[in-house]
Amino acid sequence: MIIIMQSHATRQQVEGVVARVQELGLRPHLSEGDETTIIGIIGHLTPERLTGLELLPGVDRLVPVSKPFKLSSRDFRPKSTVVPLNGQAFGDTGIVVIAGPCAVESEEQLWETAVAMKEAGVRILRAGAFKPRTSPYSFQGLGVRALEMLDDVRRRLGLFVVSEVLSAEDVELVAGHVDMLQVGARNMQNFALLQEVGRSGHPVLLKRGMSAKIEELLMSAEYILANHNERVILCERGIRTFEDSTRFTLDISAVPVLKSLTHLPVIVDPSHAAGKWNLVAPIAKAAIAAGADGLIVEVHCRPEDALSDGAQALRPDRFRTLMEELRPLAAAVGRTL
Ligand code: PEP
Ligand code: MN
Repeated sequence: MIIIMQSHATRQQVEGVVARVQELGLRPHLSEGDETTIIGIIGHLTPERLTGLELLPGVDRLVPVSKPFKLSSRDFRPKSTVVPLNGQAFGDTGIVVIAGPCAVESEEQLWETAVAMKEAGVRILRAGAFKPRTSPYSFQGLGVRALEMLDDVRRRLGLFVVSEVLSAEDVELVAGHVDMLQVGARNMQNFALLQEVGRSGHPVLLKRGMSAKIEELLMSAEYILANHNERVILCERGIRTFEDSTRFTLDISAVPVLKSLTHLPVIVDPSHAAGKWNLVAPIAKAAIAAGADGLIVEVHCRPEDALSDGAQALRPDRFRTLMEELRPLAAAVGRTL
């Protein structure tokens, strides 16, 4: 249920309604727009309580929210959420591009890529320390050693870092070394993990599961928001279809669908969707044209030596070209890069 306040409602009236909602044992969620204030309510309301709330001074009307996701819904909060990070802001007019290697492989590889990304204007570096691999025999990431290397990069280059956390037990550890926690596609419905990244209060990059519906992605975001963490960025990274000429099928329509259903920022990962480096740029451009708030792109200085996802990695020079090509596109959709 949402309470829509009258456009001239006073602060005192808004506070009165919030206090009443709390008295009823319900959770109010205040969203102040330029014109109207909306108070979302989480919890069950009897018809009598409903009428009671409707009669409070300053209340215009009560509107039921039928969607199963509440805190992440635009009905609850019409204004887009903006998540600032290292001088950039997800969900604002600027396009934020995260880039870096799939995984931290060595000190040299990390530094070489990090420096190249900084020179290309990137402010948020991606690099996995714990890798969720399909095969237990594949490179699993350098773990804590990688986190320490990432710390060094953050300190010395002023870059912010996003890295994946695979289990609820590791959240505290990873959060101590990175600026944004990534929940990967394979863990999108690991509810214990979602609750823990919620409790961490750290910004979260939540990737869509490869077989997850948009509504399921939003329900996963809801787990994080319900744990009092509103700094959530959603990521479309391709889904499973019958088509196998790409690694996954980028669901480009997920971008406008999500932007209409939720106030949370939405970015696109063209690398994992494509699976091939030569498809990354056109898919990235399509994402910006469709209204994405940003991108996360895999870059490797020597893709042929990469320990994971080499085939989809851009070399730094190709990444720089992509950044240049994206600029006029961003301007065409009223954004900056
Ligand atoms: C990754 O970002 O390296 C990754 C494993 O992504 P996803 O969870 O989307 O497969
Ligand atoms: Mn990868």
